[in-house]
Amino acid sequence: MPSTTPSGYAPWSSSTRPRSRVQLHAAARAAASGTVASGRLVFLEPGHVQEVDVSAPVLERALAAARDAVARIGSGDYRTEAGPKCRDCGYRRGRWCEVGKGYEPGGERV
Ligand code: SF4
Repeated sequence: MPSTTPSGYAPWSSSTRPRSRVQLHAAARAAASGTVASGRLVFLEPGHVQEVDVSAPVLERALAAARDAVARIGSGDYRTEAGPKCRDCGYRRGRWCEVGKGYEPGGERV
């Protein structure tokens, strides 16, 4: 199960990270213009489009997760966990990051 923020949202799992980016963009757009009708990820691979839920409750959870992250960082809490983000990271390859040592390609943690 992916870790969650205090808001209950898991913005950094491999399956939700791209969607959470779209949702944060949608939340900003909604703040500026009032509503966002739809969201989608359009991949370079022709014909590959993934719809993203940009309903008001989902955008509120995405914003709450971002607020949680900013608050944690602002308080000096930089904790993170190993995950797909570590795959190509030079800190993991150089074995300088203790957290990254817990990542095994193809798995969340070793
Ligand atoms: S290896 Fe460390 S620095 Fe690199 S992405 Fe993973 S947690 Fe972050």
